[in-house]
Amino acid sequence: MVVRQAVFRLSQEPHLRKIATTNPVTRSMALRFFAGETLDDAVRAMQQINARGMSGTLDHLGENVRTPAEAQEATEALCTCLRRMKAAGLDCNLSLKLTQLGLDLDEERASRNLGRVLDVARELGTFVRIDMESSEYVDRTLQLFTEVKGEYPNVGVVIQSYLYRSKKDLQELVKVGARVRLVKGAYLEPERVAFPNKLDVDANYLRLTRTLLEEGVYSAIATHDPAMIDAARRYASELQVSRSDFEFQMLFGVRRDLQDHLLKQGYRVRIYTPYGTQWYPYFMRRLAERPANVMFLVGNVARETTAARRRAPS
Ligand SMILES: Cc1cc2nc3c(=O)[nH]c(=O)nc-3n(C[C@H](O)[C@H](O)[C@H](O)COP(=O)(O)OP(=O)(O)OC[C@H]3O[C@@H](n4cnc5c(N)ncnc54)[C@H](O)[C@@H]3O)c2cc1C
Repeated sequence: MVVRQAVFRLSQEPHLRKIATTNPVTRSMALRFFAGETLDDAVRAMQQINARGMSGTLDHLGENVRTPAEAQEATEALCTCLRRMKAAGLDCNLSLKLTQLGLDLDEERASRNLGRVLDVARELGTFVRIDMESSEYVDRTLQLFTEVKGEYPNVGVVIQSYLYRSKKDLQELVKVGARVRLVKGAYLEPERVAFPNKLDVDANYLRLTRTLLEEGVYSAIATHDPAMIDAARRYASELQVSRSDFEFQMLFGVRRDLQDHLLKQGYRVRIYTPYGTQWYPYFMRRLAERPANVMFLVGNVARETTAARRRAPS
């Protein structure tokens, strides 16, 4: 928890962002978690994922944009991504964040931009998932999702098991047949809104998984936790939910062994694959999830710094 808090605090420091995004060691470690900075990189990565027998989700990285022009640019990039995935014949859908579309500026703008992306996706027959961001955005995200869901059946949303409210939110969502991705939650949240204890987050994940599978709407169990995955498989078998009626989702670069294992056992596996230049906040969340990642990075940066000092003329 201490490491997690420290990583989140550091991720807010603009000067550190600049150093990290230009440092070759940080960049090369970050590249383990995303496909590259261009759409070409993303397409290549997705072709490899599809060749492994898995489907994918592309995420054009970006969040908390500060100007209307940035929101517009992100909207265009998402539409371009949709067209490109169709043209390349990828087995793939799209994820986006509402703050990427201007939610911090005004809701109207985010809603308009979301509509534009969903229009293109509908035209191309592609599904779009609205990622869930930190708790301050949950009400607005669910509200916007509910508003667009009637018009666009090709849209889904995310529920985070670390939030106390998620049980109630999920009950509302399943009533309207929403397609939900279930995750544990990746942001630093206060005890006021989220379970501080991992055991409670996990227990809630199990309860919510069961609810999703009982409701029979095609859902996504997004985790790398073998205990969560085993439970989902057990519930699916008890409830006679077939392997084609839900999917497991994992992140690019995380637990490839488990991805392959599930596929071999006949489960559907989808790999969430981010790309783009705005990778820093995403990378910091991946670091915060696992202290071992931080230690690995610190070790490599220290080794590289010592080596650079030795190389430097005295
Ligand atoms: C497809 C997908 C989409 C997601 N979308 C969202 C979203 O919209 N909103 C949101 O808040 N969160 C999202 N997340 C992140 C999620 O909330 C968790 O933070 C993340 O998945 C880690 O939790 P876990 O379920 O894997 O379990 P954990 O208990 O955290 O991890 C279980 C095991 O997985 C492996 N592992 C987990 N994370 C890492 C890592 N970073 N590096 C290396 N190994 C790791 C380790 O072996 C670890 O022991 C998403 C996750 C996935 C898989």
